[in-house]
Amino acid sequence: MGGWAIAVHGGAGVDPNLPLHRQDDAKRFLTRCLDLGIHALRSNHSAIDVVELVVRELENDPLFNSGRGSALTEDGTVEMEASIMDGPKRRCGAVSGLVTVKNPISLARLVMDKSPHSYLAFSGAEKFARQQGVELVSNDYFITEGNVELLQLAKEANGIWLDRRVPVETCCASVETPLQMNSVPISVYAPETVGCVVVDSEGRCAAATSTGGLINKKVGRIGDSPLIGLGTYACDVCGVSCTGEGEAIIRGTLAREVAAVMEYKGLGLQEAVNYVIEERLDEGLAGLIAVSSNGEVACGFNTTGMFRGFATEDGFMEVAIW
Ligand code: ASP
Repeated sequence: MGGWAIAVHGGAGVDPNLPLHRQDDAKRFLTRCLDLGIHALRSNHSAIDVVELVVRELENDPLFNSGRGSALTEDGTVEMEASIMDGPKRRCGAVSGLVTVKNPISLARLVMDKSPHSYLAFSGAEKFARQQGVELVSNDYFITEGNVELLQLAKEANGIWLDRRVPVETCCASVETPLQMNSVPISVYAPETVGCVVVDSEGRCAAATSTGGLINKKVGRIGDSPLIGLGTYACDVCGVSCTGEGEAIIRGTLAREVAAVMEYKGLGLQEAVNYVIEERLDEGLAGLIAVSSNGEVACGFNTTGMFRGFATEDGFMEVAIW
């Protein structure tokens, strides 16, 4: 066994023109989240507790697209979704369509621990949240001024954005074929979802992902993040959290695929991640972080960048964007 390891991400769609101070803010925040996870791992918390703890921290800060700071729907509301998975027994919980739950990841955990089901959505999930007594806030709490402006811009532009801040003509004038999602031109793309994967010192893997989804998404749209095996997966071999265009991640069954090629093809963690990104994912659309039960961390993405951080028990630590 290789000791504990942790990886976090803050989305795979990075504005190539992101100002330096915004890059620094993101790196500082990811470092803080890693430190929180490292401290918990050193105090012998289990992988499943650590992924929940770290994702809660990410949800509470408006910097990324989850919890407070979530992307807005076409109606200007927030509909959040999240999922969590505990590797050893493949237990899992997922939620979608949340409008008042302050920490979606903790409700996903409660679905896993306290309900007979693995996935609750919309009014049923909200009802379960009230029954469980989790902290509820008004929908306004999640809505930031920046996201209201972005929704407005999205509606006005009604065009193709590679990233939530960069119209295609600004960053990639040479793109001839507009990005499409299931053959429909993407009007706006907001990829700054959060995720965390952990293997603890007993070799137990866990994964968690939380998001507001895409800016200007249709009300009721469900992406990959709450879908077990697609946006999130953990088993006795690895833990995986994905980010990027949900529709592409769903088509590629990305998270489970990493575990499958490890199990069936015998690939190592980074090899498996590379294989899945190359073979199962459309160009330029997504990325993922992963840990193995041996204490390795890995990542892969085919977008311009991915906000990410890693740490392992032997002292390795890295936070990167590009
Ligand atoms: N995968 C998320 C979604 O499609 C977006 C993201 O990762 O930023 O909802």
